[in-house]
Amino acid sequence: MIPFEYRTPKNLKEVHATLKEFGTDAKLIAGGTALVIMMKQRLVRPSCLVSLRSVRGLNGIEVKDGGLRIGGLATHRAVEASSLVRRRLPLLAETYHHVATIRVRNMATVGGGLAHADPNQDPPPTLIALGATVKATSASGSRVIPLDEFFTDYYETLLKPDEIITEVFVPRLAANSGGAYLKFLPRTADDYATVSAAAVLTLDKNKKTISDVRIALGSVGVTPIRATAAEAVLRGQPVKAEAFAEAGEKAKEAVDPVSDFRGSAAYKKDMAAVFVRRALEKAVAGIRQQARAKPAPKAARKTAKKGKRR
Ligand SMILES: Cc1cc2nc3c(=O)[nH]c(=O)nc-3n(C[C@H](O)[C@H](O)[C@H](O)COP(=O)(O)OP(=O)(O)OC[C@H]3O[C@@H](n4cnc5c(N)ncnc54)[C@H](O)[C@@H]3O)c2cc1C
Repeated sequence: MIPFEYRTPKNLKEVHATLKEFGTDAKLIAGGTALVIMMKQRLVRPSCLVSLRSVRGLNGIEVKDGGLRIGGLATHRAVEASSLVRRRLPLLAETYHHVATIRVRNMATVGGGLAHADPNQDPPPTLIALGATVKATSASGSRVIPLDEFFTDYYETLLKPDEIITEVFVPRLAANSGGAYLKFLPRTADDYATVSAAAVLTLDKNKKTISDVRIALGSVGVTPIRATAAEAVLRGQPVKAEAFAEAGEKAKEAVDPVSDFRGSAAYKKDMAAVFVRRALEKAVAGIRQQARAKPAPKAARKTAKKGKRR
């Protein structure tokens, strides 16, 4: 590795000052799981590493406006293990659980993962399907970027060199909503996905019609891809196997994977259709199961009791 300076600012103000001092020659480092590899391969050669590890107050997970606010420095493991996340958004905990191994998840941070912007990563499709936003902060203020606009190319995002991801916000799910994330792993359990798909659906109160849906895929293009044409096929439609299959075909048209050791481009396209269909089916099954598991409202329970006594 080439020599570099290492700075350990204690707060955001000091981070901004160090970034200003070194300009585009500086690189933030959080968990280091992606950056150190890139430095060893000499793909990046920063003259200064600005460590975020001593910056306090950026690793919390809390409820905000009914949704979840996750600090940019929260680790993947913290999201996966958080009782708050598991209770309110189990899909998110499950998705972070899919990342690599526990050793990687213990170090890798939510902000570092999103800034790294590898299209094969697991969290982005789920976060896009959940309608998440990213808060980017610089010395001149903060801005909020919807995650489905955040990724621009291989390892490229809308972040400016002086911006730090301080927070990810996942809005509250509407009633009768649920989701699924599926990672196709034909090689080993800790590999990156060959294809991944996330779907978040909202059904009407009878659980028969799709009121809203968001679908996103990973490993099938230069960025994670939101499958808007597939979503359009489903909105307002009854829950039917044919509609899910049609949405899968629409998603297939939207992706543009490369052939590599995980599969040919043609195979990945076919798998995109299959995994979108399966994610939709799993999401609907989850919503219906949740509805069955919920205790009936008090009035309904009273009527049922009376009926039994007769
Ligand atoms: C062996 C291995 C297997 C893996 N397998 C998977 C997998 O199966 N699925 C998956 O999803 N991922 C996988 N990953 C990738 C892993 O998710 C990323 O390495 C990790 O998310 C990066 O987070 P980090 O905190 O370590 O980032 P770092 O390595 O510290 O930084 C990555 C990039 O983000 C920038 N950065 C860091 N923090 C911030 C911030 N708060 N704001 C702005 N920019 C920031 C850095 O400057 C750098 O450019 C794997 C990684 C390894 C090493």
